[in-house]
Amino acid sequence: MQSDSQHVVRFHYRVFEPSSAEPLLSSFEGDPISVLLGRGGLIPGLERALLGRSAGERFEVDLDAADAYGERRPELTQRVPKKHFRAPASLRAGEQTYIATREGRRAVTVKKVGMSVVDVDLNHPLAGKDLHFEIEVVEVREASAEEIAHGHAHGPGGHRH
Ligand code: ZN
Repeated sequence: MQSDSQHVVRFHYRVFEPSSAEPLLSSFEGDPISVLLGRGGLIPGLERALLGRSAGERFEVDLDAADAYGERRPELTQRVPKKHFRAPASLRAGEQTYIATREGRRAVTVKKVGMSVVDVDLNHPLAGKDLHFEIEVVEVREASAEEIAHGHAHGPGGHRH
């Protein structure tokens, strides 16, 4: 089966900065991830690169920042009360952590820790970076009616409720 939108693709990935042989992130030591294509669950360049693939296929793709996590936006800095952090006492500048937002958990980078507030950078940690991906497609399957209704993949590597 070749992947199309409305299919669930399960895949392993390694992501590199173009100048580095050391991956920033890799799924190969753990479980592959599952994504329902065509629902914006992936960065745009990967979504395109995963169309028309079959189980067992391996490929590499180079993405510009705009097709990956987007350009860095300097204005995306925010002052957040400490109560929004799970462990505010241990926050350090440069550290990546999460804050709770209306849209769910969001990854942020701590810029400065004050007495009662923390300045955070809301850009994705990989924003502004050109990225190189190595992909291995593990499985391509039809999405269930429930997955299509929810807009995401269920099962191993997918969304957990
Ligand atoms: Zn669901």
